Order: sequence, then C-alpha cells, then structure tokens
Amino acid sequence: MLNESQRQRYLRNLILPEIGESGQEKLLRAKVLVIGAGGLGSPVLLYLAAAGIGNIGVIDDDIVELSNLQRQVIHSEKNLGQKKVTSAQEKISDLNPDVNFKIFPERATRESLRKICTDYYFILDATDNFPTRFLINEICHEQKKPLIFAAVKGFLGQVSTFKSYQKNNPCYACFNPNIIGENFSLPLSEKGILGSVAGTIGALQATAAINEILSIGESLVGKILLFDFLQNNFRKVTLKKNPGCKICAK
Ligand SMILES: [Zn+2]
Repeated sequence: MLNESQRQRYLRNLILPEIGESGQEKLLRAKVLVIGAGGLGSPVLLYLAAAGIGNIGVIDDDIVELSNLQRQVIHSEKNLGQKKVTSAQEKISDLNPDVNFKIFPERATRESLRKICTDYYFILDATDNFPTRFLINEICHEQKKPLIFAAVKGFLGQVSTFKSYQKNNPCYACFNPNIIGENFSLPLSEKGILGSVAGTIGALQATAAINEILSIGESLVGKILLFDFLQNNFRKVTLKKNPGCKICAK
C-alpha cells in the first residue's frame, strides 16, 4: 500500500494505465544493480530513483574528477575527489528517500560481480569497456538475470536487453561485431562523448529496465536499438543467437 506522500510523488506514474498502484508497488519492490556511476550510470540512477525503484545497488571504484562533470550529471563540483558511489548516494538520498541505495566502491571483477549480483534481479551494464561488458554478460547468463545493456561513443549509442538463459535468446557475446563498429573498444580516455548523448541513451536504458520490471510494452530481448545522433538515425536490429556462442550455446 502506498502512503499519501508516495501517492503524490508518483502521481504521474500512477495515472499511467500501464503502471497504476500495483505497478508502482512492483517498482518499489524491485532490486536493480547498476554497474558504473559515470556517463550512463548518472542518468540511469537518477531516473530509476525518481521513478521509485525501491532497491538500487551501484558498483564503481572511480573518484569524481572535473572532466566527468560535462556528462556525469549525478555528480557536482562539491563532490570532486569523492568516490563516485558516495557522490551518487548523496544525490539519490536528496532526490528520493524511498530508495534503499546500496553502494559498492569496488572494481567490477568476476568475484565481486558474482557476489553482488546475487542480491539483485535486474542488472544494468553502464560500463565503458568490452572486458567488463563480456564479464557482466557471463555472470547474468550464469545467474539467470535479465541484463539491460547500453553503450555510447561519440554521437552513437546502443541499447538492448538480454535474457540468454531463456531458450533461443541471444546474449551479448552472440552479438555481431559488425553492428558494434570497431572503434567501440577504445579506452574511455581516448573517447569523445557528448553529455546529452550519454544522457539520452541512459534515459532509454532506464526506461528499458522499467519496462522489463513491469513487463510492459515490447521487450528489447533479441533486438538492439542503434542510434546515430549526427544523422538523426534510429534503427532497431534483430539479434540472433549464435549457435557457436561460448557463453550461451550448449
Ligand atoms: Zn551467446
């Protein structure tokens, strides 16, 4: 049962027929882990918390630097030098006290992910490098967790959802590398990124997660959204399971 202040806070969610009071209660019960509190993680965390996702965990071992503030909108100048997860926690507790926000100031390694992921049901990959993305994909497959994936580079963005533990659904490793583009693997320090591009893709990732939690709309499982903000070109491409995939094929 929602209390009076929650009815006011979530009013615009509640009047959506796809959400309503039962949907809002589902959001408040949801357990979501966000890996990365940077360019994607910032909008993701803000929108998930504002929507009333009741249990949010965040993993990141970075500290807030001045060059982050151009896109990582959850952090402020007063947070410079702090752990990103601590800075995010401060902002989220100001935004919505309904959120049980748990911080993990550690690297996303196989060991840490295996341990932390067990406490969450939906996993959001908001990282910026291929090794961690593949690792998250593996752990999600192993633990049968829905993986909501997003990536950005320059003016390009991608969003998808993977449930490879269900028959015939592809995983991130099944992915056709031609779709990604070879330059997606550059380390972050060499990448340019427009803050509003990361913000747009992060908002889409948060929306994809909320749709999965509520089981509303058309799932992105087996599909990937590809955005080119220079050409204003948005595409939805079907992804097929790779029968030779080392992670999800038998
Ligand atoms: Zn696969």
